[in-house]
Amino acid sequence: MTEHTPQVTRASNGRGAAARRPAGEADVIVVGAGPAGSATAFYLAQAGLDVLLLEKSRFPREKVCGDGLTPRGVKALVGMGISVGEQDGWVRNKGLRVIGAGKRLELPWPELSSYPGYGLVRPRTDLDAMLARRAQQAGARLLEGVTVTGPVLDDRTGRITGVTGKPADAEDERTYAGRVVVAADGNSSRLSVAMGLRKRDDRPLGVAVRTYYQSPRHDDDYLESWLDLWDGDRLLPGYGWIFGMGDGTSNVGLGLLNTSAAFGRTDYHAMLRKWLKGMPAEWGFTEANRTQPIRGAALPMGFNRTPHYFNGLLLVGDAGGMVNPFNGEGIAYAMESGEILARTVAQALARARRAETERVLAGYPRALTDAYGGYYALGRVFVKAIGRPGLMRFATKHSMSRPALMRFAIKLLANLTDPRGDAADRLVNGLSRLAPNPE
Ligand SMILES: Cc1cc2nc3c(=O)[nH]c(=O)nc-3n(C[C@H](O)[C@H](O)[C@H](O)COP(=O)(O)OP(=O)(O)OC[C@H]3O[C@@H](n4cnc5c(N)ncnc54)[C@H](O)[C@@H]3O)c2cc1C
Repeated sequence: MTEHTPQVTRASNGRGAAARRPAGEADVIVVGAGPAGSATAFYLAQAGLDVLLLEKSRFPREKVCGDGLTPRGVKALVGMGISVGEQDGWVRNKGLRVIGAGKRLELPWPELSSYPGYGLVRPRTDLDAMLARRAQQAGARLLEGVTVTGPVLDDRTGRITGVTGKPADAEDERTYAGRVVVAADGNSSRLSVAMGLRKRDDRPLGVAVRTYYQSPRHDDDYLESWLDLWDGDRLLPGYGWIFGMGDGTSNVGLGLLNTSAAFGRTDYHAMLRKWLKGMPAEWGFTEANRTQPIRGAALPMGFNRTPHYFNGLLLVGDAGGMVNPFNGEGIAYAMESGEILARTVAQALARARRAETERVLAGYPRALTDAYGGYYALGRVFVKAIGRPGLMRFATKHSMSRPALMRFAIKLLANLTDPRGDAADRLVNGLSRLAPNPE
């Protein structure tokens, strides 16, 4: 991925702006067309707002990911009107296979009224292009090949009034102006950083690598999660996954959390190779069968960048650190937060007075906290606990021999409950409500 250093450009009310004539104006500027940006633009456009969606790459483009969607992700896709049938190229899965403490448990996705009973797998090259096209179909204006270089600020108030960006096919930078700006530019979120919003050290962060192998396991109908990784008889730090892509390959990867002592001191590529060395030969996870380079990226979890609204800028998806700390899932949360954001902005921009607009926008962080705050707070405790290898080993060993406990665990780890469901649902919901829940 190309690195860009954002520069803050000041366009004062009127005078400075004349020097840099806006090349594009809209009600809302959305920076980044991953799942968060495309969902945001889709719901904003549906609400009748004029949206400019700026994306530095051109679709189809790669995104380092496990390519797995839980039922939560499926629900978010359905919400955007995406056809999720197998005839449309989706690979369905029935649940999660958990491997740990020498045991193997298949846990079907729970039967709920709030979520479908299946998950999906799709390469991000396809998925992200599809979501961006849906946003366009809803009326958003997508500009591909535009790298946003920094915020444009109002001299007097310091509020963001737009962004500067460099189209790949133009000599000069251009200015894009909007009443509000959305940072949907992923984990590094250079736009947020340029506005002074950095990652929080007290919140979880993961790092993960993944690649693809030709494998007979490509049509696996379960997502597979490895709770302990072995190099011979040596326990490696971290957790792994194997997701069948349905196209002759499996997406294989592993990740580590910043609560682990090995975080920042691990050669992830070497660790992946060591782990795979111990796999049955017939699965085919060998160098000869590897079809892609091993690539890695960070997973910003549990609201690890706040505040989610600041001076005209709203943060969504990975930019706002919204990956689920329990299972590393980020696509569903990127799309859901995009919808929450869009609903807030649509109401805010309909208010007659500036102060009223501002009051509604200030409600966005609260809306996110209502949706995820308690659950993410629990997740932060979970991440601390599993950073201790002894505790993790104890928990894996004891829970893997108790299928009923694991059925509860899948609801907790994948955040899949009904509001008024069974005892397990009520326990997960109750714990989330009880957890201390700061914004
Ligand atoms: C190894 C790995 C495995 C994962 N596996 C899974 C999984 O199986 N399931 C799951 O749900 N989640 C998974 N995740 C998490 C998931 O990938 C992210 O949570 C998700 O992509 C977040 O979406 P987003 O739209 O917020 O950000 P992104 O998908 O990162 O999108 C950001 C977009 O902004 C664009 N952009 C960035 N900077 C600029 C700029 N300056 N100007 C213009 N455009 C810009 C980028 O090109 C990109 O298109 C995984 C993550 C990793 C690292």
